[in-house]
Amino acid sequence: MKPIASLSLDLDNQWSYMKTHGDPGWELFPSYLDIVVPRVLDFLKTQNLLITFFIVGQDAALEKNRDALVAIAAAGHEIGNHSFRHEPWLHVYSEQQIEAELAKAEEHIERATGQNPIGFRGPGFSLSQQVLRALVRRGYLYDASTFPTFLGPVARAYYFMTTNLNPEEMRKRNALFGSLGEGLRPIRPYRWRMDTGAIIEIPVTTMPIFKVPIHVSYVLYLSMFAPALALLYFRLALRLCQLTGTQPSLLLHPLDFLGCEDTQDLSFFPGMRLASEKKLEFVSEILGLLSAQFTILTVQEHTRYVSRISNLQVVEPCFRPLCQQKA
Ligand SMILES: [Zn+2]
Repeated sequence: MKPIASLSLDLDNQWSYMKTHGDPGWELFPSYLDIVVPRVLDFLKTQNLLITFFIVGQDAALEKNRDALVAIAAAGHEIGNHSFRHEPWLHVYSEQQIEAELAKAEEHIERATGQNPIGFRGPGFSLSQQVLRALVRRGYLYDASTFPTFLGPVARAYYFMTTNLNPEEMRKRNALFGSLGEGLRPIRPYRWRMDTGAIIEIPVTTMPIFKVPIHVSYVLYLSMFAPALALLYFRLALRLCQLTGTQPSLLLHPLDFLGCEDTQDLSFFPGMRLASEKKLEFVSEILGLLSAQFTILTVQEHTRYVSRISNLQVVEPCFRPLCQQKA
């Protein structure tokens, strides 16, 4: 029997990228879901995969996205909560604001898809103790908002180079993609323990030992420079997962399926210079490697599998300064 892995897609929409980037016009919530969702669903069907889609509540609240979101649920995929406003500074919200944010997203996601999410991923991997407490209170099964890499600050610096944000907007985006300390967090699933309860964490897997990103967008980015080397890099990551007994939880984005011919507005993203056909070919190759070695599940199934492990690592939530970990 093959070991397990999980796969998810953060359904970030055009407006959420524009908002984080500080581009005008995001307030009209421009959407590419009608283009990208059918493409992703077709792709997953041919690969025979059921995955988790983390959906933004604001998109679920808009009629124009309804058909796309209904189609995701109808195809049998898991629906997770990716917040309502998709603000990567969720960790600066008060507890009350977090509750309202989660509740509003749940309400609209359930109305649009018929599924009540029990998994959460913070926008831009933003997370705080208050968010975890709110998730426990609201009965969530898992959180999937950690991204244990040391490369977060590098990604942020690159991102800021391409924006025209004012100092206040910069300050809000200060923790975008995480601090250096994120690299110290575990890459294998664990249990956050709080006085009010516990919740399982399924981290977005980074390369064992080196903790560099291995999610699809990153490998696609590498492939722009050297496709063969990018594949070798991914193979190495999977080999290290096998050797260290790590069940990888990998991440997709809509931009992995969209090319330069689909939208001009997101050209500040490095991978947006490739054509969609080329991207799909590469994504298919990467996922082929993954499914040859692992049985791919939704994040919820991954969590249920992990929850049966009796000696699962327990971590006390602590954000900046970083967690004291307890075995
Ligand atoms: Zn997102």
